Amino acid sequence: MYIAVDPVQRYAKMRAHTATHLLHAQLASIFPQTKQAGSLVDEDYLRFDFYADELLNEEQIANIETNIGNIIVQAHPVSVEEMSYDDAIAAGAKAFFEDKYDDTVRVVRISNNAATLQRWNAETYLSIELCGWTHVTNTKDIGWFSIVSQEAVASGVKRIIAHTGPMLIRDIQAQRELIDTISQKFSVPVKQLLPKIDKMLKEYKLLEEELEKTKTAAITTYIEELKPSKTKDGFNMYSIDWNYDFKKVIEIYKNKSEDAILYNQDWSYAIIGWSAKSFAQSHWLKGGWSDTFFQWKDPAIIELLAKS
Ligand SMILES: [Zn+2]
Repeated sequence: MYIAVDPVQRYAKMRAHTATHLLHAQLASIFPQTKQAGSLVDEDYLRFDFYADELLNEEQIANIETNIGNIIVQAHPVSVEEMSYDDAIAAGAKAFFEDKYDDTVRVVRISNNAATLQRWNAETYLSIELCGWTHVTNTKDIGWFSIVSQEAVASGVKRIIAHTGPMLIRDIQAQRELIDTISQKFSVPVKQLLPKIDKMLKEYKLLEEELEKTKTAAITTYIEELKPSKTKDGFNMYSIDWNYDFKKVIEIYKNKSEDAILYNQDWSYAIIGWSAKSFAQSHWLKGGWSDTFFQWKDPAIIELLAKS
């Protein structure tokens, strides 16, 4: 049977795979104890899971991208060779998952151009791994490398997603489109976007403060005109209209020196006064806070009103 393999797709996977080895080596230099926890390679797309307690910071991510970018433009050769397992491990090759390997293994090496490769020495390789996959023959073939995202996937396991090759052009185009759309929405050229957003945020904050003042004034007026529904054990009971922010009403009411019970149609209530807590407890009201302020949500507050 003949299986057609699209050479373009295959090459895109090879780029991503060789980049995975480079990423692994970079991570190992940051987290010496790290191990691969899983890996997925697709066309110019790679997902790499590794063991680490902490996420990479922004600087580390930028450094990894820069280092791999340099390795790409420096055009280091990638070679595949079969050798004995012991020789490969002695040379510093990374082996995974405590796998069972045959005596003869396939070793993928990314040589360091700058080093003189006289004999086996892990120091002279940018990456050396036991691997059965196909790779590009030179790092320059990867084209571009960029980390797209990083997240924690399980306890002690972090995940990096990265793109290679022409996928980066698509990423850049997508970002440019996004920025253009934002600039159109704000009706300013891209260069003026940040000052425009800063200005709008300032205005928004002022408006918010204005709104808060108006709200406070309206509630203060509302409270002044409020008549108690009844008086119970020295507490004036007030039914508070739905339309007013109950929290805000309580906040303003606390400034008045009056023993009061405020309640809402949804059974929210607040008792304000020096004996607030003992009043609530003597009437079996659910809730809490302090001796002089008690609040919660309890239908019993409505029953209290019905009782004489
Ligand atoms: Zn591999």
